Amino acid sequence: TFITIEGPDGAGKTSVIKKLIPMLVQAVQQEIVATREPGGSRIAEEIRELILNPTNTEMDIRTEALLYAAGRRQHLVEKIIPALKAGKVVVCDRFVDSSLAYQGVARGIGTSEVAEINQFATENLSPDLTLYLDIEAHAGLERINQNKNNRQFDRLDQETLEFHEKVRSAYLTIAKEQSERIVQIDASQDLETVVEQCYHVIIEKLRV
Ligand code: C5P
Ligand code: MG
Repeated sequence: TFITIEGPDGAGKTSVIKKLIPMLVQAVQQEIVATREPGGSRIAEEIRELILNPTNTEMDIRTEALLYAAGRRQHLVEKIIPALKAGKVVVCDRFVDSSLAYQGVARGIGTSEVAEINQFATENLSPDLTLYLDIEAHAGLERINQNKNNRQFDRLDQETLEFHEKVRSAYLTIAKEQSERIVQIDASQDLETVVEQCYHVIIEKLRV
């Protein structure tokens, strides 16, 4: 079962996943593969570094979109597909929806263009379930500010509130359009509540 976690910056994906994984392991009594994008394999981590390096300010937006897709491909082939073939549950922090929201909408490339290169990269492999952690842009940015010392600074941290608002509204649209796959969760609630809600949605899916 392939599960992805999505959301704007500051939604709390990283904190939620950290608490969620041990709970899931406990419940299903089997290994859960927890991984993240961009990155998740040696080559994909190098691509991540290239994309997120704050000094790479001259990067073209289509170059960026292609690099995300390339890193995604490598991560998928090396890590996600083998785990799924072995019957494992995979929980991935970000996937194609991130590219649709960030590169497609916020950067303005267009969602159909970005969807197309990602169909090529993934050979149309789609998650079985996606949890979308929804947070207003300003609230997400506030969290990031409060947590500054515990996060690595990246190129995206230079983006404006307007950029993050575009990301969020893109996610809301995608979640509405693909409501069969995507479950929206209010990430402005306290961490325990968000974790609890994510847990129940996933358990329900795994028991089907
Ligand atoms: O999820 P995480 O915080 O690790 O993502 C790293 C950075 O990459 C974030 O600043 C996020 O906004 C950005 N990103 C992006 N486009 C994607 C995925 C992530 O701009 N497709
Ligand atoms: Mg993060």
